[in-house]
Formats: sequence, structure tokens, C-alpha cells
Amino acid sequence: MSQNLTIALSKGRIFEETLPLLAAAGIEPAENPESSRKLIIATNHEHIRLVIVRATDVPTYVQYGAADFGIAGKDVLIEHGGEGLYQPLDLQIAACKMMVAVRQGFDYAAASRAGNRLRVATKYPNIAAAHFAKKGVHVDIIKLYGSMELAPLVGLSDAIVDLVSTGGTLKANGLQAVEHIEDISSRLVVNKAALKTKHALLEPIIQAFASAI
Ligand code: ATP
Ligand code: MG
Repeated sequence: MSQNLTIALSKGRIFEETLPLLAAAGIEPAENPESSRKLIIATNHEHIRLVIVRATDVPTYVQYGAADFGIAGKDVLIEHGGEGLYQPLDLQIAACKMMVAVRQGFDYAAASRAGNRLRVATKYPNIAAAHFAKKGVHVDIIKLYGSMELAPLVGLSDAIVDLVSTGGTLKANGLQAVEHIEDISSRLVVNKAALKTKHALLEPIIQAFASAI
């Protein structure tokens, strides 16, 4: 059997927190993607390689079978929709919360009453739209790609929907979290076809991850 396995990972915290899980499955990257410029990283197994992609692109690579499995935040998976993906494990890494935040002193309770209209800046338009629809609040969603904290400070939006872990970045920018939307952590995502055709290769890795959590 000479099947190959491709694993999609993003740099940064997910990669760091995935290393011990890979080690538990006997997989060791040949290079550190933080210092290497290579996007394809070999491992100690000739038939297993890593591809380094943007966090938001992990579900796409796995959905289309360009990677057999990957690790992606629940935030990214909700936005993506999860089509073509089997999600067998919550790996409980890269834990944080999806929150609504506003300028300190902003009367969010009044501004977010049902029937009101709110301008919300976010990297997560689907999550934000669903949250405010449930509350009956009309929103104008402004899609951003980073530095969300700036939006309420310069009048681009009333609120932001973003990931919060310690709250340090919010505080440093005079913002405060006012509403919890979702607990976030990273999940294993497996291509549905690969799960069948490469079951013998995938199953021991999934088991090793499961017992390493
Ligand atoms: P960049 O921040 O460089 O624009 P990114 O946002 O795509 O890149 P990360 O910030 O590393 O990448 O986030 C990757 C994943 O890690 C997110 O999808 C989320 O699941 C998780 N994450 C993001 N921020 C935090 C945080 N503050 N604490 C814990 N996990 C987080
Ligand atoms: Mg980020």
C-alpha cells in the first residue's frame, strides 16, 4: 500500500498546539514552518506531508481533497459551512470565545434592542448575521480582514464581532466584550472521500489524536 497523506495546517498558534498531537501519532515535521519559507513540509514518514495554508483556507483544501485532513478553528468552520468535511474530534486547542465588543461606555443594551439597527464590523459575517438575526436586531455588516478593534474607535461601526481570549487587546483599545456568541476551539476536519479510501491510514492517527487530547 503506497497511499500518501497530506495534512493542512496553519502557522501560529494552531501549528504550535498541534505539534504534541502529531507527536502522539508518531508524526514529526522535518522543518519548522515558522522559520522555513516552504509551504510543503516533509515529515519523518515518507508518505505523510504537511501543507501550510492560511487558517481560513484549511477547510477549503480539505473539502476539495487537496489535503486529506487538517485542523481548523470552529470560527473558521462555521463561516465556511463545513461542506464535504467530516469533523470527528474537538481537539480542545486554540480555545477562545466569539464575542460582541463595543467602546467602553457605549450603551449596548439600548443599541441592541430588537428592532434597532446596528453597524457591526467583523471578519465573520455569517456568524455575526446569524447572532443578530436571532436577537431580532437589524445589522449592517462591514466585512474586515483584521484590526477589528479599530472600527468602533474611528466610527466605522458600533460594535465588532471577534475572537477574544484574555480581553487584553480589547482593553488596550478602550473596548469591552458585551455578549458571548460561541465557545471556540479547533477541530480535526477530514475529507469525506479520504475517510473511506484512506481509512487504514487515517484511523490510527485519529485514534492517537483522540487519546492525546
Ligand atoms: P492573522 O491573525 O495573522 O490574520 P489568522 O487570524 O488567520 O491570522 P490566527 O490568529 O493564528 O490566524 O488564528 C487562527 C485560529 O486560531 C482562529 O481561527 C481561531 O480558531 C484561533 N484563535 C484566534 N485568535 C485566538 C486567540 N486569541 N486565542 C486562542 N485562539 C485563537
Ligand atoms: Mg488572528
